[in-house]
Amino acid sequence: MQNAPRERVTQPSSRPKLKSGKDQSPRLLRINDSGTPDCIPYELIRARRRSMVIQARAEGILVRAPKTATVSEIEAFMQQHAAWIRDHLAACSQVVPFAWQEGTALPVLGSSVRITAAPEVARVERIGDQLAMPPQLLQFRCREAVLNWLRTSALILFNQRVLMQTTKMGIETPPVRLSNARTRWGSCAKGPNGARLSLHWKLYLLPLALIDYVIAHELAHLREMNHSARFWAEVAKLYPDYKAARLELVRSAHTLPSI
Ligand SMILES: [Zn+2]
Repeated sequence: MQNAPRERVTQPSSRPKLKSGKDQSPRLLRINDSGTPDCIPYELIRARRRSMVIQARAEGILVRAPKTATVSEIEAFMQQHAAWIRDHLAACSQVVPFAWQEGTALPVLGSSVRITAAPEVARVERIGDQLAMPPQLLQFRCREAVLNWLRTSALILFNQRVLMQTTKMGIETPPVRLSNARTRWGSCAKGPNGARLSLHWKLYLLPLALIDYVIAHELAHLREMNHSARFWAEVAKLYPDYKAARLELVRSAHTLPSI
């Protein structure tokens, strides 16, 4: 974890002033190169200053800009420093290895659930805010048992949620596969034998609303295989508040434990 802010600074500029203070943050920067992540949330603060500065902090990227700077200028500046931003985000989010032991909490559907030894259960079971499991299993195969439980639970839930949305769309329900992709939450493919949907098992750590957003996004691709305005209109039919969810998804990705 690095706490000291890291900075990148621009040259001063002279322009008409925009209003100062915190902008409608957070914003989302789409980075146009091949690295990952490809979307970076950032906060923008306008102030009486002459130069632009990017700060990488544990909580995320903060940009301080002159009142005169336009968003496209700010984002062009960020694009120039994309590699730097990624490196520093990665350094800031260096997490301690996940402790596979009694008492460790992990997020499940957005709530904190604690790994607990429970002699009365026969297998991993979520009981309220506890992830209960037989003591033997906890002691010797905790990681494997929890990951199996997460994957199994994820697949059951994802199938239910996909069915809800395909019913709404009046289309056939594609088979769902769990993915372990490094950089994407979901994908969808149309083939000669129909559509197939892949969803990352780690989505199960996130709130249900975000899972529904990813599903809406992927199902909308069955109608529009691109990210055009027409595509987003399809997403909006299934998930009206998709903009907030999209942002939240990017933010949440940085907070998940590395399991
Ligand atoms: Zn997409």
